[in-house]
Amino acid sequence: MAAPMTPDQWLKALREEGVTDIVEMPGWRTNNRNHVAAWGPVHATMVHHTAGEGSGLPNFCFNGTSDLPGPLCHDFLARSGRLYLVGNGRTNHAGRVASNAYDAVLNERATHPKPGPDALDGNTVSYGLEVENSGAVGRDWPAKQYDVAVRVEAARCRHHGWSADSVWAHKEATRRKPVDPRIPMDQFRDDVAERLAHDVSWNPGDTNQEEDMPITDADAEKIARKVLTIDGVIANPVSGTDNSHIALMTSARNIEIVVRRLETKEAAQTAVITALASKVGSGDDTAEIVAAVQKAIADAVIKVDVDINGGGAA
Ligand SMILES: [Zn+2]
Repeated sequence: MAAPMTPDQWLKALREEGVTDIVEMPGWRTNNRNHVAAWGPVHATMVHHTAGEGSGLPNFCFNGTSDLPGPLCHDFLARSGRLYLVGNGRTNHAGRVASNAYDAVLNERATHPKPGPDALDGNTVSYGLEVENSGAVGRDWPAKQYDVAVRVEAARCRHHGWSADSVWAHKEATRRKPVDPRIPMDQFRDDVAERLAHDVSWNPGDTNQEEDMPITDADAEKIARKVLTIDGVIANPVSGTDNSHIALMTSARNIEIVVRRLETKEAAQTAVITALASKVGSGDDTAEIVAAVQKAIADAVIKVDVDINGGGAA
């Protein structure tokens, strides 16, 4: 459960996360739909595309239409990378959402399933970012725009102590919006998780000693022990007024996500090499070898998932 951020908290979090090109639309601090229904507690933050492009979009998002009154989001992100602050409070961005999709963000699950039928009010529980994109197949997100989108979602997660698995797309939340937006969301969440695993001042491409050195088994064990120790601290906080355990918990969760994905990747690579080696000189045709490799990858990924989820990790 988290109380929604105040306008000042949001501005501060954005600036700390490196979002510098910000337009505060006049009245955004009190532009909301709180008079219609509840806002908060919040548990998630949603990515949308606008399904249209143009300079009128900030005002459109602010005002909405007679059928769908504004604000239509909390923030509007132009293709230039400029972020417009549109509303604070309840906004008309999500509509009704599926309960399995909500369960995935609420409990920060590693997988975000295809949404079932609409079941609950998404506007009460989720922030919403609208990203300017036509939605046409192949229409890109410029690098700057994508980077700011990652920073916006990371800023919300970091403030609340959430992992990147609190980020969802409109297409993951309801069957009504199957391509909103078209970007691969697991990759987007990986990019948010990478930000969260670093200090707030980190920029993509920054190098440091940690990343230049290969992780040895001993290092991996140390990291794992650290995560478990931090989890122990969190389970028994010494002081109820000390918020440092929230920051530690966020780091721990995001380290876990990164480690889990690295482990999956490594296991799959090992399985491929093993499968290929066993087929050398076997006389099997290409299709059989491909099938054997695909099965090896699938088995490896399942095994890692079972190992991790069966290990009692938080
Ligand atoms: Zn949407």
